[in-house]
Amino acid sequence: MVEFLVFLGLIVAGVVALGMYKAPMWAWALGAVGAALFWQSGIAGTLTDPAPGLIGYLFWFTAVVFGLLSVPAIRRVVLIGPAFKLIKGVLPKVSDTETQALEAGTVGFDAELFTGTPDWDKLRSVAPVVLSPEEQSFLDGPTEELCGLINDWQVRHAEAEVPEKLWDFIKKRGFLGMLISKEHGGLGFSAQAQSLIIGKIASRSPDVVTIVMVPNSLGPGELIEKYGTEEQMAHYLPRLANGDEVPCFALTGPASGSDAATMRDIGIVTRGQHDGKEVLGIRLTWDKRYITLGPKATLLGLAFRLFDPDRMLGKGENIGITVAMIPTTHPGVNIGRRHLPSGAAFPNGPNWGKDVFIPIDWVIGGEKMVGQGWRMLMECLAAGRAISLPSSATAGTKAMLRFTSAYGRIRKQFGLPIARMEGIEEPLGRMVESAYSCEAARAVTASMVSRGERPSVLSALMKYQTTERMRQCVNDAFDVHGGRAICDGPSNYLQSAYQMVPVGITVEGANILTRTLITFAQGALRSHPYLFDEIHAAQDMDTERGQEKFERAFSNHIAFSVSNASGAFFHNLTGGHFGTQPEHVAGLAHWYRQLGRASRSFAFVADLAVVALGGGLKTKQKLTGRLADALSELFFVGCVLKRFEDDGKLSSDKDIVAFAAANGLYRFQEAMRGFIDNFPVAPLRWLMRAVVFPLGMPYRPASDELGHRVVKLVLQAPEVRDRLTRHIYVSQDVDDPTGLLEVTLRKVIASEEAEKKLERAIRAGTVRRYHGMDWIGDAIAKGVLTEGEGQTLREVEALTARVIAVDDFDPAEVKPHYPSVGHNSRRAESAAAE
Ligand SMILES: Cc1cc2nc3c(=O)[nH]c(=O)nc-3n(C[C@H](O)[C@H](O)[C@H](O)COP(=O)(O)OP(=O)(O)OC[C@H]3O[C@@H](n4cnc5c(N)ncnc54)[C@H](O)[C@@H]3O)c2cc1C
Repeated sequence: MVEFLVFLGLIVAGVVALGMYKAPMWAWALGAVGAALFWQSGIAGTLTDPAPGLIGYLFWFTAVVFGLLSVPAIRRVVLIGPAFKLIKGVLPKVSDTETQALEAGTVGFDAELFTGTPDWDKLRSVAPVVLSPEEQSFLDGPTEELCGLINDWQVRHAEAEVPEKLWDFIKKRGFLGMLISKEHGGLGFSAQAQSLIIGKIASRSPDVVTIVMVPNSLGPGELIEKYGTEEQMAHYLPRLANGDEVPCFALTGPASGSDAATMRDIGIVTRGQHDGKEVLGIRLTWDKRYITLGPKATLLGLAFRLFDPDRMLGKGENIGITVAMIPTTHPGVNIGRRHLPSGAAFPNGPNWGKDVFIPIDWVIGGEKMVGQGWRMLMECLAAGRAISLPSSATAGTKAMLRFTSAYGRIRKQFGLPIARMEGIEEPLGRMVESAYSCEAARAVTASMVSRGERPSVLSALMKYQTTERMRQCVNDAFDVHGGRAICDGPSNYLQSAYQMVPVGITVEGANILTRTLITFAQGALRSHPYLFDEIHAAQDMDTERGQEKFERAFSNHIAFSVSNASGAFFHNLTGGHFGTQPEHVAGLAHWYRQLGRASRSFAFVADLAVVALGGGLKTKQKLTGRLADALSELFFVGCVLKRFEDDGKLSSDKDIVAFAAANGLYRFQEAMRGFIDNFPVAPLRWLMRAVVFPLGMPYRPASDELGHRVVKLVLQAPEVRDRLTRHIYVSQDVDDPTGLLEVTLRKVIASEEAEKKLERAIRAGTVRRYHGMDWIGDAIAKGVLTEGEGQTLREVEALTARVIAVDDFDPAEVKPHYPSVGHNSRRAESAAAE
């Protein structure tokens, strides 16, 4: 029996080893021959009844099958050919617009995560945050100055508009041209610099950052810089950079939101009058909504479908999505009305036009770029999506932590700062984790974009993860602040973030779609090492050529799948102890080994999911959403480990890293568990469970004790709090609500001992603290406090009273007034009636 079990163990080890190392078919055949001979020698023991021969024949049969399959001609006939036919019908179909979207971005570290054996050194070698001296001085100079000029209440309520004074400053200092090259009058800043500048402004005002962010994201500036004609660049770019032109970009319409490519806005190629001359041009009819900066814009970037019924351009009739720039003063352009998005003050509104004639050279890139709009948009979207929202959301997580850790220490109930209560520690712990990990992932992604990558999968993942984590942080901040957060007014520093969270969640691909469709379903197509090639091969009109291409990809795919299945099983069985880790990662080796183990499991499950679900992948969104979450956790934990190294492996951060890594791996496990439990094909579900969780669930969330240590660090070590919230704006002005928090917090910490004495005296009944009494004077008189301590505590109490105060208003002041309400659908109805 023992011999037999040893034999069985050897067989399993042999299969795992051959699989893990992607052994060729002949090696499998040799392995089977070896097993057959071994078995027949009888060394494996006496448990050979009742059918010793049968088992031996089974090994010989396996050896013959693998031997035959190692002959290419035979393999082609019995394996590749039938597989090609079968898979042709199963693999997801990819439309033209999808292909453009998939081919637009670059594949980077995301592809590593799909291999099952990511090279973590590739992530570790991404540059840490480095700015040029010019970028640094812009961040420390004009950006800091702008933040100091902002009064959030004035912006979002008193004026319900970004004041002209701020617009002027922004234009004059070149904020609107950060992505425009120096050659064309812009600042030509790196993505990392743009990300930090955007983040800093976002930590001060979501409205103001929006007016800076939009011209520096997908829109006329970027499109002209990348695809414009020489004349367009020379004319528009300097004007956009210095703010003489304010751009907006109109893609979304009432009927086409997430599915923007189905827009009903059309242009017909025709001849018409422009500047007193007859020219070739386009007659446009469109109806757009939600357009940021629209009401203020001077230059409208418009996306529409172009048709050429008379084939005047010689490119067929249905030319495709095209982007043009139209001055908003052009006759027929209706613009200027506003939406009220979540009470925000940045300009946002609809625009529309009917039979508006524009010359063809208003198309971005001129006549040669007609029909190229979707490709242009997709190419720019990946980079933009990696910067704007992840930067502002990350800044949001940091700001929420900074404000809430201060408030939690200042605000007392039951004689204790509320932050010392375990119930409050829990949300504060989540905020610490989000602030640390979002900044880690933001810095990596921005550096990738700075070096020229356009990471489509990572940008989607970053967009939904950072905005969701910010949503959690804002909710946590609200819970910790209680009524103080809910009552709005000039002293409320949380409301603007709360109002703006849904905007970040919705724009640039609403999160549900971005999570369930873009990150994994499209991500797998893009980042899987062989799938995209197999689909291309299957869709090849030339079947012979298709099968040839397919053979290469499919053979590698099988070896890859078997390797990941074996690797995942081995590492899950051995707890990841035998995994490899990059060199010189002292203190992080355990986490790297666990990440390696998790990556193997992810790659194995992702691969099976793609193969088994095929075209159904797009609709099985509860499943793909979970795999998007699992992929995100792998990336975020990897970035956390990298940040620890980049920051110089500070011992104070070790607990934060352990906290974030443990929670990240636990969420990874739960996402995988949810996926496997709900996978519709039972045998595959059993296989996945056996491979990924052979010994049950290995990960637990970080312990309460670790969470306690992490929050204590932030409350007691100002340098840790500063590091966790770095790169955001920090006011020190007591007349600013966030500055007041900072000043008060410092004084509260400095007067801790005196405060304890006073609290003890109050508990003992020596001193009584009620309205109308001078309890500090009383404490001094009774010798509880010295004069000096009393003076400090008076100051702290006065500041604390301001920190906890909420605003109230004259009822007449708080009535909103919106005199003339318009409606897209009414416009659409009247257009239809015409
Ligand atoms: C404040 C604000 C500013 C904006 N600025 C601009 C701008 O400057 N220019 C511009 O062109 N547009 C802009 N937009 C539009 C924005 O990009 C769209 O709102 C967004 O694309 C979603 O479209 P929708 O609101 O019509 O939602 P819908 O498309 O109706 O989606 C509703 C919900 O369904 C989900 N969903 C849709 N399809 C799928 C799917 N296949 N799978 C899973 N879930 C799906 C979405 O994720 C969403 O949760 C802005 C919007 C807002 C609110």
